[in-house]
Amino acid sequence: IRYADGKGWYDARVEARAPIPMDPATAVLHYAQEIFEGLKAYRSADGGVTMFRPDANAARFRASAQRMAMAPVPERLFLDALDALIRTDRDWVPDDPEGSLYLRPFQYASEVFLGVKPSSEYLFVIIASPVGSYFKGGVQPVNVWVSRDYSRAANGGTGAAKCGGNYAASLVAQAEAIEHGCDQVVFLDASEQRYVEELGGMNVFYVFDDGSLTTPPLTGTILPGITRESVIRLARDRGLTVREELYSYEQWQADARSGRLREAFACGTAAVITPIGTVRDRDGEFTVADGKAGEVTMSLRDTLVGIQRGVTADPHGWVHRVL
Ligand code: PMP
Repeated sequence: IRYADGKGWYDARVEARAPIPMDPATAVLHYAQEIFEGLKAYRSADGGVTMFRPDANAARFRASAQRMAMAPVPERLFLDALDALIRTDRDWVPDDPEGSLYLRPFQYASEVFLGVKPSSEYLFVIIASPVGSYFKGGVQPVNVWVSRDYSRAANGGTGAAKCGGNYAASLVAQAEAIEHGCDQVVFLDASEQRYVEELGGMNVFYVFDDGSLTTPPLTGTILPGITRESVIRLARDRGLTVREELYSYEQWQADARSGRLREAFACGTAAVITPIGTVRDRDGEFTVADGKAGEVTMSLRDTLVGIQRGVTADPHGWVHRVL
């Protein structure tokens, strides 16, 4: 779907995937005015096709557009475009209970000019691609590398927006994580390098010996994850206390050592919920408890996956039926 100032959104099409030819002076190639989302369509237990909270993706996409000075895609248009794409061929959504159709909506500045100002033209595109299980052979813990040299987002920056530039800036830290045998990087806050913010592509939760949970607050420097928000609600539904509170890396180490911290997990669309295994930094490493999947982690995971797959009741009306 195209956009031009004065014309609005026009020219919606479903096409076979093909390269998008681009003029070398297309704005996005120089000033990175680009945002995206990631969500999945599932085959539900009764054979239908559903999406999980696509309205939340539409709202976040709109908020990202605003931060990046882009013409926002109306939420209704975003949702209708997803529905129309999925309905083109229901067989795109894998039938197996682990698979799903990954959906990647994105929007970029398509005006041809060299100059630092918001573009007056945009292209909004959705890629749909079937994917298998994120984990082969059961849920596995992620090992994480705590970056002491790089941060993901500063106050007043773009941390809360899902824009490509955030990920470009995170790659050097992600490469460092991989070099040290880890799957994901943990970012600390930019001002003090002290408080845990999030992983390269996931939010983070801590479970304590009194059954309560803590997750870093939405200070504007982390991505407001849809899985994060869903986990907070599911945990509160069970009567658990969930704090959205600053938690320092030092405290994490101390609580793991004393046994006060029982579980730590990461969450996001791709892996849903996954335990955090080994935590490594340039000075050493430790594990939370035995480094294996904890009880609260796995039970929240079962509930959330159950809702997404249509086998568990959906008390919050999160499941959107497409077919
Ligand atoms: N933080 C970052 C940096 C991410 O890329 C993602 C994945 N979108 C998340 C958190 C988790 O967000 P969500 O639960 O909406 O997938």
